[in-house]
Amino acid sequence: MLVSPIRLLILASLGYILYRLLFGRGQGRTNSGPSQAEGKRQVDDVLVEDPVCHLYIPQREAESLIISGTTHYFCSPECRKKFQSEKRS
Ligand SMILES: [Zn+2]
Repeated sequence: MLVSPIRLLILASLGYILYRLLFGRGQGRTNSGPSQAEGKRQVDDVLVEDPVCHLYIPQREAESLIISGTTHYFCSPECRKKFQSEKRS
């Protein structure tokens, strides 16, 4: 008994449809990734003011200090130390 070429073709296309159904959806999910990455990049570009020397620095490069839920940003660890000692006195 011989297998006809048409039957092989149908089997192959069925396999292809099954493959697309199983793995095609997974690719659709990953497409939502780049939009999230763009949102993150905008946050990195935010400029923050140093309350000690009043310089503006990019948030990602700034030294941060959280006091009672508020985040303060500084241009250097020196400014952060100065701010901390002023707060205590
Ligand atoms: Zn500073």
